[in-house]
Amino acid sequence: IEHVVKTSFKAYPVYIGEGVIGQLPIFIKEKQAGVTKILIITDEIVGGLYLAPILQILSAFPVEVVKVPGGEKAKTFEVYYDCQTAALQYKLDRKSLIVALGGGAVGDLSGFVAATFMRGIPFIQIPTTILAHDSAVGGKVAINHPEGKNMIGSFYQPEAVIYDTNFLKSLPLSERRSGFAEVIKHSLISDVSFYQWLKSNISSLESIREDEMVQFLAKGIEIKSAIVAEDEKENGIRAYLNFGHTLGHAIEAEMGYGKMTHGEAVLIGMLFALQLSKKYAGLEFDIETLTEWVQQLGYQTKMPEGLSDEKLVERMKGDKKSVGQRIRFVLLNEIGSPELYELSDKEILCELNHFK
Ligand code: NAD
Ligand code: ZN
Repeated sequence: IEHVVKTSFKAYPVYIGEGVIGQLPIFIKEKQAGVTKILIITDEIVGGLYLAPILQILSAFPVEVVKVPGGEKAKTFEVYYDCQTAALQYKLDRKSLIVALGGGAVGDLSGFVAATFMRGIPFIQIPTTILAHDSAVGGKVAINHPEGKNMIGSFYQPEAVIYDTNFLKSLPLSERRSGFAEVIKHSLISDVSFYQWLKSNISSLESIREDEMVQFLAKGIEIKSAIVAEDEKENGIRAYLNFGHTLGHAIEAEMGYGKMTHGEAVLIGMLFALQLSKKYAGLEFDIETLTEWVQQLGYQTKMPEGLSDEKLVERMKGDKKSVGQRIRFVLLNEIGSPELYELSDKEILCELNHFK
């Protein structure tokens, strides 16, 4: 299956399916003719699993590899610097190509390396997580600063996304849950029938049928890219993608990053945003049924123990998407119909109190 993502200045293809990695050399030959060097950036786990077959596939090209630590440890200044050093030592030039092989962390890092090496060289994303259906599309690339996540970055689009679902088979359950929460998010903010489809077809994340995986990844990408295409630089509707993230980010930060995956925290944030939507946006929706379904998928649906509501509210006020004293929330007037609302800290505290 090939989905074409269009943005305001560039259109790039997204290949999704079992075995689509075979497209990689074909794409490079056709669209990156004369490539002088390919630098693959991957993490230790993904590299250990999938580097060998990819090197095999790319045996006709001059390839170098940089292995970085897995997860957020990839998105540091030190690792970024090491990648640039490797790119210089391997003598990459403007006609070279960076290939990101891994999840969202490797994708964000590699994209930022590509965006800034010699003022920008082409890169291709090979996502290996469910979450990466979200991160590989939309053109945001970044590393972290000790003062804040994703604070140093840019908007930079890949030449192509090659999403081979064979690579997802080794993905641990907690990572599946993390990524699938964003799929649920995409359904809730834009397409009630997609939500219904997910709810009636996905009853376990351990054994996802291949065709269903392809279908929901493709649909999630389609939804995200439609929103991004309309609002590449986040001046308007792109904010809808933040559904569930206002509280989700606060939970992640309060617990300490890594204690709970991003998507699992966002899922709790979405349940809270749905509760707010019922109260403030006139949403009519059966939160109970959703809650039962996601519990069956292994999600935690209650606020983690020991978090202070006051501290969560302080975090939400500090969110780069909030304004002044009021906290900005994406709420749903209906499923598929998001809108931005601003609520006071008192209102949020009161609702957090009812959300136990
Ligand atoms: P990740 O890249 O950190 O991967 C999670 C873990 O799973 C890592 O330990 C990795 O080694 C392992 N892994 C990856 N693929 C695997 C596979 N196929 N088999 C076995 N193990 C595998 O995490 P992620 O959840 O994909 O991405 C999270 C990152 O994405 C965060 O840094 C977040 O900020 C970023 N993000 C970016 C955007 C964006 O628009 N750019 C959007 C959402 C999230
Ligand atoms: Zn997210």
